[in-house]
Amino acid sequence: MARYLGPSCKLCRREKTKLFLKGTRCESPKCPIEKGRPPPGEHGRGRVRESEYLLQLREKQKAKRFYGLLEKQFRGYYTEAAQSKGVTGEELMRICESRLDNVVYRAGFAMNRPMARQLVSHGHFQVNGRRVNIPSFRVKPGDTVEVRGRSKGVGRIVENLSYAEGRMIPDWLGPDLKSMKVEVNSLPERNQIDAPVQEQLIVEYYSK
Ligand code: SF4
Repeated sequence: MARYLGPSCKLCRREKTKLFLKGTRCESPKCPIEKGRPPPGEHGRGRVRESEYLLQLREKQKAKRFYGLLEKQFRGYYTEAAQSKGVTGEELMRICESRLDNVVYRAGFAMNRPMARQLVSHGHFQVNGRRVNIPSFRVKPGDTVEVRGRSKGVGRIVENLSYAEGRMIPDWLGPDLKSMKVEVNSLPERNQIDAPVQEQLIVEYYSK
């Protein structure tokens, strides 16, 4: 299961936006984006001519990094979205949102998506009563995602939940945080997905 192991803040600086890849630091003044740090690299501060292609490429990279995906998997999601009946860009976002690691993060069981991915792969969650340790597992309307019995005492999950109390949980999820579970009411519409991504540019990038 390949994943990016480099510095997280560098990715946000590259995309010039907050991707919320860390925990409380993302909300603090210590965040390099808050401090106005430039993109990484020798030419980070330089002026780059923003061609149409560059805008499309950056948007695609941003979405991949936001959800913690590598190219092959993201492209696979695009292909699936393009073959579906719905609007391709919206379907692509819906597919990314329905991943189990994203649901775990959105419900507040993890401080960020990389942590959610780790908690899932360590087997702390069950879907409809069955243990699932695959971060890319896709939930469906009516599914219940729950912290497994023995994992309910795991300090990190309890701590994350107390932090999540002040956070907005999207209304396509029905959380029951006391019982450490969340019900998937429906899959999200685009306006319910809080992601700094213009998916139309991604569709243009891949459909060339
Ligand atoms: Fe780093 Fe979080 Fe700020 Fe991104 S949003 S630059 S991950 S602190």
